[in-house]
Amino acid sequence: MAFHIHARIHLKKPNATCVVHVHPEEGVALSGLKHGLRPLSQNAMRFYNRVGYHDYEGLTDSFDERERIVAALGRNRALIMRHHGITTVGEMAREAFSLMKEFVRAARIQLQMEATGAELLEIPPAVCERVAAQYEMHDRGRASAEWPAYLRQLDTIDPGYRA
Ligand SMILES: [Zn+2]
Repeated sequence: MAFHIHARIHLKKPNATCVVHVHPEEGVALSGLKHGLRPLSQNAMRFYNRVGYHDYEGLTDSFDERERIVAALGRNRALIMRHHGITTVGEMAREAFSLMKEFVRAARIQLQMEATGAELLEIPPAVCERVAAQYEMHDRGRASAEWPAYLRQLDTIDPGYRA
């Protein structure tokens, strides 16, 4: 079923060279919250007005659901699949990977903030939009500096991905 998701996104979004789809507990927990991802931390800024939502339909094995997944993803950088998991897309593997890393952190931070029950400070929309745009620039440039370090880690764990 993961193949269904990936194959269709690759077909429909030629710029999405890499698709990451996982089920981290923080992401699944957040996916069930009606209000979804809130712009409450710097980690969440990348996804301000850049995240889509897809309602849960069961195991993703039907061809017509794939169309709805791609439509919900649209031009967004991430897709919250309700009660299921998270998908990020990037022009390069490092972009989709970094987005997922940031998404999981943002989800964890939001859940921690909301768990306090305290009133939460909102970041003004204009600031959110400005930072989201800053990150789009950053992710195409400086953010690439850390990628070789991740590849070295991966080589240590299992170099099989290079085959
Ligand atoms: Zn999945």
